Amino acid sequence: MRLMVERTPTATIVVVEDEPAIADALAARLRAEGFTVEVAHDGARGVELCRRVQPDLVVLDVMLPGIDGHEVCRRIQRERAVPVLMLTALDAESDLLVGLGVGADDYMTKPFSQREFVARVRALLRRVQRAADQSSSRPIVAGPLTIDAARREIRRDGRLVHLTPTEFDLVHRLAQQPGIVFTREQLLEEVWGYAHGTAGERTVDSHVAAVRRKLGAEVLRTVQGIGYAFGAPAP
Ligand code: CA
Repeated sequence: MRLMVERTPTATIVVVEDEPAIADALAARLRAEGFTVEVAHDGARGVELCRRVQPDLVVLDVMLPGIDGHEVCRRIQRERAVPVLMLTALDAESDLLVGLGVGADDYMTKPFSQREFVARVRALLRRVQRAADQSSSRPIVAGPLTIDAARREIRRDGRLVHLTPTEFDLVHRLAQQPGIVFTREQLLEEVWGYAHGTAGERTVDSHVAAVRRKLGAEVLRTVQGIGYAFGAPAP
């Protein structure tokens, strides 16, 4: 008889946060929710910890001594695509845009409630799991692009293009219905898994910009006043 392969019962989360009180509170709450949690108090240790434990998700403070959160995010993502939830004390738009540009998947501004924090973590994990469940689907081929949901890979002219988990999900969702226009609200709901509030539309725009830089400007079409579509208009 073939043994069933059990799904990992709990996700492992790395928290990188230099303020001990916040780090402890977040770690305690995540452990209470059943997650396995490892904590690092500076950027260099955070990168090292991620390398060692290969977490399912990273909670990353932007303001860290030494290497800041943006650079930590860049380094983590360079080694392995992993969902990153960034924390910032500032509600600065530039911070948000830089964060999304370096591969953060979601963003929370301090102070936030533990309840909202857990909801964001779960939404991000659900999104990645849902994407993994598409592992039986066949690759989508569109012009020079091959979008392989099973491998979570996109190739352009046969060459692998490195995308963050959110960038991949965004392209994949749009490419499933080429030519069909999605509003930003729809994309937030379907790709991010929940409605964002005020930063939402900027979040979509930033990810679209990142995808265009990596895959080519023509891949995602802006439909003025409505939203985005993959490739040419539907016939
Ligand atoms: Ca900090």
